[in-house]
Amino acid sequence: MANEQQESSIDRRKRVQFLKKAIVTGLVIGVTVPWALCAVLFFLAAGIKNEAKAERQENRSQMEAMEQELRRQEEQIAQLNSQLSEFIAQMETERQEAIVPDLDASVSGEEEKSTGHKVYLTFDDGPSKYTNDILDILKKYGVKATFFVLGKPGKGNEAALNRIVEEGHTLGMHSYSHKYSEIYATKESFIEDFQGIQTFLEEVTGVTSKLYRFPGGSSNTVTAVDIHEFIGYLQEQDVVYYDWNVSSGDAASQTLSVEAIYENCIEGIVGKSVSVVLFHDAADKKTTVEALPKIIETLLKMEDTEILPITEESKPVQHVKAEVIEN
Ligand code: ZN
Repeated sequence: MANEQQESSIDRRKRVQFLKKAIVTGLVIGVTVPWALCAVLFFLAAGIKNEAKAERQENRSQMEAMEQELRRQEEQIAQLNSQLSEFIAQMETERQEAIVPDLDASVSGEEEKSTGHKVYLTFDDGPSKYTNDILDILKKYGVKATFFVLGKPGKGNEAALNRIVEEGHTLGMHSYSHKYSEIYATKESFIEDFQGIQTFLEEVTGVTSKLYRFPGGSSNTVTAVDIHEFIGYLQEQDVVYYDWNVSSGDAASQTLSVEAIYENCIEGIVGKSVSVVLFHDAADKKTTVEALPKIIETLLKMEDTEILPITEESKPVQHVKAEVIEN
């Protein structure tokens, strides 16, 4: 009996101990598992967050790269646009300067005495790499000409300008920039460009030029302002403008042959009392230089014909007549 009681008390103790263990284990599991789950979830969330952040950064740098590319393309377009307008202006120059308005009718002032024939050889757009060649030819034949030049700084160009003056040729102005869209935009822009070329030539050669040739001529159709506004300004500056009544045709964008230039000149000159012949002194006008000796030789053989430089006293050939300013 006593044995049975002892055994059952041992069993109870064992059961209590088992229950205690179970309760402690349950508590430990109940507390640690949620914490462990929390920790796992926390790390998972942090991982997702980092991934999202990296993706955002990648997206941002992609966007920046795209924006940069866009800006680069915009710059390229702007550059192309300006090249295009430059090209259009150049084409317009060529078109305008190829025009030869009604010939003898455009010699203003009194009729030239019919004795003798005056020929003025004029070279626009220089100095260029051919200026010295042209000057050499003129020197060889003892002939003086007129150069309507542009504002082109640089050692070689400035030396050429000085050579023009030193060898007794006439230095005229043909605008500083030769950019129609800028020069003819407003009266102010015309004046600014005019003062630019006059001052530039003064600084380089010491000569204050009083002769002007409008880019495209006074009859150009590109000016946004009435040409008389500019003519009025030139008159105020005591500057005379000269157009032309014979074109060598060398303004054409397609290179003209030596023969064609020669024929254009001689056909244009014959029968006129005053001929102002338009040539171009430019890098792409090699045939002009090559045609020049033969043209001069033919002119020198013509009766009563003189080759002269334009001076302030020469009767101007003008496509658009200046309106008389009455004081
Ligand atoms: Zn020109």
